[in-house]
Amino acid sequence: MVRRVAVVGAGVSGLAAIKGCLEEGLEPTCFEQSEDIGGLWRYTDQTEEGRASIYRTVFTNSCKEMMCYSDFPFPDDHPNYMHNARLQHYICKYAEHFDLLRHIRFKTLVTKVKKRPDFSVTGQWEVVTQRDGKEETAVFDAVMICSGHHVYPHLPLADFPGIQKFKGCYFHSREYKEPEKFRGKKVLVIGLGNSGCDIAVELSTVASQVYLSSRSGSWVMSRVWDKGYPWDMLVITRFRTWLGNILPRVLSDWLYVRGMNRFFKHENFGLMPLNRTSRKEPVFNDDLPSRIACGVVVMKPNVKEFRETSVLFQDGTVQDDVDVVVFATGYSYSYPFMEDASIIKSRDNQVTLYKGILPPHLEKPTMVVIGLVQSLGPIIPTSDLQCRWAVKVFQGRWMGMCWAKVYFLYGNSTTLQTDYITYMDELASAIGVKPNILKLLLTDPRLALEVFFGPCSPYQFRLTGLGKWSGARKAILTQWDRTLR
Ligand code: FAD
Repeated sequence: MVRRVAVVGAGVSGLAAIKGCLEEGLEPTCFEQSEDIGGLWRYTDQTEEGRASIYRTVFTNSCKEMMCYSDFPFPDDHPNYMHNARLQHYICKYAEHFDLLRHIRFKTLVTKVKKRPDFSVTGQWEVVTQRDGKEETAVFDAVMICSGHHVYPHLPLADFPGIQKFKGCYFHSREYKEPEKFRGKKVLVIGLGNSGCDIAVELSTVASQVYLSSRSGSWVMSRVWDKGYPWDMLVITRFRTWLGNILPRVLSDWLYVRGMNRFFKHENFGLMPLNRTSRKEPVFNDDLPSRIACGVVVMKPNVKEFRETSVLFQDGTVQDDVDVVVFATGYSYSYPFMEDASIIKSRDNQVTLYKGILPPHLEKPTMVVIGLVQSLGPIIPTSDLQCRWAVKVFQGRWMGMCWAKVYFLYGNSTTLQTDYITYMDELASAIGVKPNILKLLLTDPRLALEVFFGPCSPYQFRLTGLGKWSGARKAILTQWDRTLR
């Protein structure tokens, strides 16, 4: 019987975990190493060990109606896409509204999580924490890992011959905060993810020249989509997912590529992804095409070799006098507090999780990893639903496979990359909170049409079942009003 739950981290996922536990009558204790909530979204001028670090100008790339907690819409007057400080303000309001802060122990680092000797019977964990140099050990019936995955830089220097000879400065994008100190410099940014694009565009306003190097290209989308509406409210709909599932693959691929090229033709900008039909997460940047068109950002292929002051690229071109290199090469997953890291990172050091949440080879399903799956959808509602699902699993009240089956059969991991609506519906069905469109069509046709054709906003998962929110219907029917406001 699960009662006491340890939550590691008080970012947006950790808060969802505390709330999920409270909703089901469990007793959460959240450990947060830093002095406040918010995780990645709490901007600080200095990077902090073990916590994600963002640059000053990070804005969300999911809009407010799509990225809110499912029972806590953003205030009307918030813009559709938000600066990190505004999102942090919202996160604080959420914690206050649901009275979550009293379950958090700040400045408390989780240093070890290990199975109790009788784990196969009890499913219990020993959690060791450190605060002010003092160590404490406590026993929990379940553990929810919400420690984030933009913390440990992936810096593949071995793939860049000659980097040791390079006389300029180089660093990982995690260290980047603001552009001023790069004024007048020639900068090379490596990596075409969200951070790489943001940093290249921002530096191009002060640097003498910015080069952006990409191995395999990427789809670049704009936040502002058809007729100026938020991209995600138009793209993430049940209707489109349904269409994608029933159309022949060739046709849905063609439509996909056509949709991605709507903003601008990627081929003409040197951005075309090598695998154009893979549904890899696109990059969001409204300004990159215009910065390329103005020549202040120049696209480059992969780096072949670094020399003392210059860089040779795969296409044989050389750029001289490069002063700075920013490696926007992403992050590695790491769980330094896990005594047995193979519980989460089992095969080939890859993360293997059932439904992107549960380590499959535990005798008892009493540990979950929240917020790790990647989809086109926003993280807050994803973590929120994952936590509601996880709590049901702890209580043995889920309508999925029985745990014994998962334990014995689940060898090959599904990828952490997933389709947002399909994934959310899978979790929602298992805990009885998926909206029934046919039933809605008969009882509330206006709502049914908005649920099916409109944006798949988080409120849809609060219309029915346990955790139902009485404001969900109204929130769905007024989501476009708040967007226009
Ligand atoms: P985090 O926010 O990283 O929080 C983890 C917390 O755990 C931290 O507070 C940390 O201090 C704590 N912690 C870690 N280890 C320990 C320990 N051992 N003991 C105690 N505490 C610990 N997603 C979107 O949906 N929309 C966006 O627009 C978006 N924009 C992004 C922009 C950038 C630049 C980046 C890098 C990511 C963005 N993301 C976005 C994804 C982002 O990861 C999520 O939005 C979200 O912040 C993840 O929250 P989290 O709670 O899972 O992890």
